[in-house]
Amino acid sequence: MREIEHLNLYNMASIFSRIVAGEIPSYKIAEDERYYAFLDINPLAKGHTLVIPKQEVDYFYDLDDETLQGMILFSKQVAQKLQAFSGCKKVATAVLGLEVPHAHIHLIPMNSEKDVDFSREKLNLTPEEFAEIAKAIVG
Ligand code: 5GP
Repeated sequence: MREIEHLNLYNMASIFSRIVAGEIPSYKIAEDERYYAFLDINPLAKGHTLVIPKQEVDYFYDLDDETLQGMILFSKQVAQKLQAFSGCKKVATAVLGLEVPHAHIHLIPMNSEKDVDFSREKLNLTPEEFAEIAKAIVG
């Protein structure tokens, strides 16, 4: 039984790979051959975005150096779009990875420390609101 669970865990594409593949819908913010950015479904702030490498690696610091460097540069472009969208003081950058085992960076429009308290209640946005936010960010 344990072996079967183990096999399932490692043969299954991560939920984020399924998002990249279009099997699970997402509100896309940016994409290139190696990275994908989309709105977090439980956002701390309007515009809270996740940046992922298409390569499926669980732990952020297990990514190879080149992928990690490229991911930061890709995130920088996304952060600039988020700042233009929200007019926030800064865009916070956080790496947790406690929930989804596919490396990702949280980019969160931030005006105060409270905006990046992950234990806070998340915003409850409608699909229309998500779509509007994505459209405003992407331009
Ligand atoms: P972490 O792994 O960094 O602790 O948290 C994972 C993040 O991914 C959470 O903020 C959660 O809201 C987000 N998340 C989990 N599943 C989905 C999903 O299916 N779609 C989207 N857009 N975000 C997700």
